[in-house]
Amino acid sequence: MIPHNRPTIDREEKLASIKILKSKKLSTNHEVKKFENELCRFLKIPKGHAVVCSSGTAALFLALKVLKAEKKKIAFPSYVCSALRHSVGLIRGKEVIIDVEKDSPNTNMDIIKKSKANIAIVPHIYGLPIKVKKIKGMDIIEDCCHALGAKIDKTTVGLNGKLGIFSFYTTKLITSGGHGGAVISREKKLINKIRDYLNFDLRKDKKKRFNFKMSEIQAAIGRAQLKKLPGFLKKREKIFTKYKKAGINLFDTCSANIFPVRYRAIMKTKNQKKIIKALNKKKINAIIPLEDWELLGGLRKNPNAYKVTKNTVSLPIYPTLKSREQDQIIKSLKNFI
Ligand SMILES: *Cc1c(COP(=O)(O)O)cnc(C)c1O
Repeated sequence: MIPHNRPTIDREEKLASIKILKSKKLSTNHEVKKFENELCRFLKIPKGHAVVCSSGTAALFLALKVLKAEKKKIAFPSYVCSALRHSVGLIRGKEVIIDVEKDSPNTNMDIIKKSKANIAIVPHIYGLPIKVKKIKGMDIIEDCCHALGAKIDKTTVGLNGKLGIFSFYTTKLITSGGHGGAVISREKKLINKIRDYLNFDLRKDKKKRFNFKMSEIQAAIGRAQLKKLPGFLKKREKIFTKYKKAGINLFDTCSANIFPVRYRAIMKTKNQKKIIKALNKKKINAIIPLEDWELLGGLRKNPNAYKVTKNTVSLPIYPTLKSREQDQIIKSLKNFI
């Protein structure tokens, strides 16, 4: 079976893990600091503007916390990972669920503006970046969990709102060993506040804090992966281009100054179920990337999102997908192109 997704783990990640185990310094030490600094370098922001944590969900909670989101109206799209709802719930914010754009997995600034929320969480779904603009009276958190390395003009996603969040879960663009996350901001003081919140122990004041820290072994694996990220992104781009050239109709964004990353190859089709079955028969695992029951805020209220759930198939795309496998996938789709 050709799996739908697979993390790329090699010798470097194994050696990095063993090194930490041998050092016996397991909790939070140099690796975490180095991973944060290297993330800053990759994203072209000054040192100190990134903080890593235990997951993307935790990163989002921390971003909400530092924006004092308690009781505020928080907008986010229906077509998204349930992590957004959980983070908003944990901070006790008021959910304002918005639809996506017509024929797109992404929302847009007009829809966001109309929500009249105090805070908006804006995901760059499937690695396709949205041009984020400032809205008066609204703080924006960019959810870059699918979009590490995507750019608009020369700016990396995550820097056009107040804060940006990333996930290093197993199947994301890079993983810090299963779970992990990060928050970035142009405003260093916000990042410092998050750091303070994470350092919960042995504090003399009475402030409430919480442990959402990343461990050394996670950071060490994350560092090894981050070094390979440019190569990973190139391999993904190559596969994406090959699919497109073969005539597969994929979600994409075309504008001279927008640079997506190929987190997912999402085929637009009216034959969703048939295609998944046909590929399964050829031992290829393709999936519905987000099912209608996963939509947040209900089907009826979000007709555009509902349509996307019915008209899409997610094809395998990852650095270890062999050329022969790619050809096999294209060949198996020939009746649907
Ligand atoms: C994966 C993901 C998250 C949550 O990240 P975890 O690390 O799994 O907690 C949030 N938003 C989006 C868009 C994601 O894809």
